[in-house]
Amino acid sequence: MSRSGPPAKPSTEPTRELPGTPGRALDQALSSLRGVGPARAAAFAAAGLQTVRDLLLHLPTKFTPLPHPQPTARLEPGKDAAVVGRVTRIVPSRRRQGATRVDVEDDRGTVSLVFFHQPHVGSAFTRGAFVYALGRVGVRDGKTFLAVGHYEFVAALDSGRPAAALPAYVLPDAVPPRLHRRLVRDLARTLAVELDDWRAASDLPGAAVLPLGRAIAAIHECADEVELDAARRRLAYDEFVHHLRPLIAARAQVERTTKPDVVRVDADEFERLRAALPFALTRAQRRVLDEVFADLARGTPMHRLLHGDVGSGKTAVALLAAAAVVRAKHQAALLAPTALLADQHERTARRILEPLGVPFASLTAATPARARKELAARLESGEPLLLIGTHALLVERVKIPKLRLAVVDEQHRFGVQQRGRLRAKASAVDLLVMSATPIPRTLALAVFGDLEVSALDEMPPGRTPVATSVRERRELKTVADDIRDVARAGGRVFVVCPLVAESEQQDLIAAETLAKKLAAYFKGSPAVGLAHGRRKPEENAAALAAFQAGRVPVLVSTLVVEVGVDVPEATLMVVVDAARFGLAALHQLRGRVGRGARASRCILVAKDDKPESRERLDVLVDEHDGLVIAQKDLEVRGPGQIAGSRQHGVLDFGFADLARDVDLLAQAQQDLRRLLEATDARAIEHALRSSPPALRERLATTASVGPG
Ligand code: ADP
Ligand code: MG
Repeated sequence: MSRSGPPAKPSTEPTRELPGTPGRALDQALSSLRGVGPARAAAFAAAGLQTVRDLLLHLPTKFTPLPHPQPTARLEPGKDAAVVGRVTRIVPSRRRQGATRVDVEDDRGTVSLVFFHQPHVGSAFTRGAFVYALGRVGVRDGKTFLAVGHYEFVAALDSGRPAAALPAYVLPDAVPPRLHRRLVRDLARTLAVELDDWRAASDLPGAAVLPLGRAIAAIHECADEVELDAARRRLAYDEFVHHLRPLIAARAQVERTTKPDVVRVDADEFERLRAALPFALTRAQRRVLDEVFADLARGTPMHRLLHGDVGSGKTAVALLAAAAVVRAKHQAALLAPTALLADQHERTARRILEPLGVPFASLTAATPARARKELAARLESGEPLLLIGTHALLVERVKIPKLRLAVVDEQHRFGVQQRGRLRAKASAVDLLVMSATPIPRTLALAVFGDLEVSALDEMPPGRTPVATSVRERRELKTVADDIRDVARAGGRVFVVCPLVAESEQQDLIAAETLAKKLAAYFKGSPAVGLAHGRRKPEENAAALAAFQAGRVPVLVSTLVVEVGVDVPEATLMVVVDAARFGLAALHQLRGRVGRGARASRCILVAKDDKPESRERLDVLVDEHDGLVIAQKDLEVRGPGQIAGSRQHGVLDFGFADLARDVDLLAQAQQDLRRLLEATDARAIEHALRSSPPALRERLATTASVGPG
């Protein structure tokens, strides 16, 4: 087998002989292992690793696949390859920086293994030993050689590869990887099976995933791909369980509370509400409203996520639900992430709620003190109304004692705590959170494991797909000409930049600079407006109002327009340095146009130097379905980049893959629900304390060397 030498010491440890106390061997100090003296034990301890159990649960962070060996006669120069050979000759390096050469032979021929920058490596080899070596095949003076990246000793010429993969760990400097590998492999073979499995101790059906001990053994040994993947899945499952537990426990908590009042919407009332809209509801909007009304009528609080592509009409759903609640003499709140958006919702409310006689008011940072005070008095007296606002309505001073329904728009801009603060304004509040990013099912389960999910999977009629093209930055002048032409013909143009002002580190065009340049280029016609996060909310609102009214038909901005802004006259969206944004965010931006009857376009301007990013942008040229785009983004960039999961930093799993492991996520959710029915949350938390992710978290907070 490997160069690890004689069999493991732990298998003969006296502590293991105590019957019925399987925990004991796992509790041994690492210093009891051969090769771990006081200095190394101290280094391990500094990294939070004290016992054999800790070492077993300190998992690899990376795996390098080990290919099957090839006959030496068949090596192809320029490729990576592995061989197994018998050592025939060792030529130590003559200079300190020189290469060491070890010749090996198999049945068909010989090849030189070459080790660069490892002056002492020669002493590890003896003639007649069998070695597996992996490296890049080269040719020198007509002879092939292997520039070795990894080698291990094996038992015989026909041993094959020593494992399916080589695991890599984050280790203290004082611990040589080869020593660690020997220790952990031996422990994996002998003691891993004795690890407690919280899952086996519960009464969950067993077959779903591998027992923990076997998974841990396999993840260190990496013996074959099938087993390795089964092990990875078990660890992924534990990661999901760990991540979902607080969400699902909170959810169970909510379900145990009872609402003081329910709101029932009968068919006549529904008809009255619907008739107030200037358009007919789509089938999807109708279905979602049914779901929301059913939740309102239920005794336990609503806990629902509504997601739908940009422009699918979430606002109408939110306003009709709020109207029903206010007409039933309760209070409702609609929370928006920006003042721009709160203002826009207020305008929409004027159109939809006024005809219904439903009172509403708005509260943002810009609301004058007098108005604020008056509003506070109305709210505190319990007057039924819809309160529309920004973060300003989250502060504790703002009392909404009869709050029945809270709607959070563009939820990805808010954290779980902010939701909680809104919910805490009254008892057992119904919560509807809305997300403009269509969310792949996996992500919805992972991020919103605590929510029911409704989808607006149908667009209002009359939309035409936005014709999308990718241009290079050096074509910016022709893009500027396009902008001018559209604006002069009576259209409106959004221009979005990644940054507010120039930055020295990054070669990106800033909003302020571009606005100035365009204004100079257009010589006053069309006029160019500016909106970004560093301006006052009033300035941004004024710029948007001028844009909407057509007085300033070109609006240069940062991502403040990403969320929700609705200007049906806008027909051109230009995104500068588009590669800086995720596909989902770009799709969002593109959704700002194409809302009216006129055909719309989106121009993505890319820096000319990176073909990969160009390729990524090309996805948007062909694809118009937000869900497909979000799924692609998930596959390409990982969940951290998708709007909605960023705030939930926990989504960087070690073993789980959100794009691949939907079934495990669903399994974890189902198991947790089952466990929570059978026992209480604290007992589960206790059981899970020995799960690998919980331990990893504990180690990461206690140790100076983070274990991965
Ligand atoms: P989002 O889901 O992105 O928040 P909005 O609620 O802003 O979308 O709606 C986008 C636009 O579609 C708005 O101008 C709105 O008035 C319009 N709209 C919504 N529902 C319908 C419908 N059923 N028929 C026609 N237009 C609709
Ligand atoms: Mg919206």
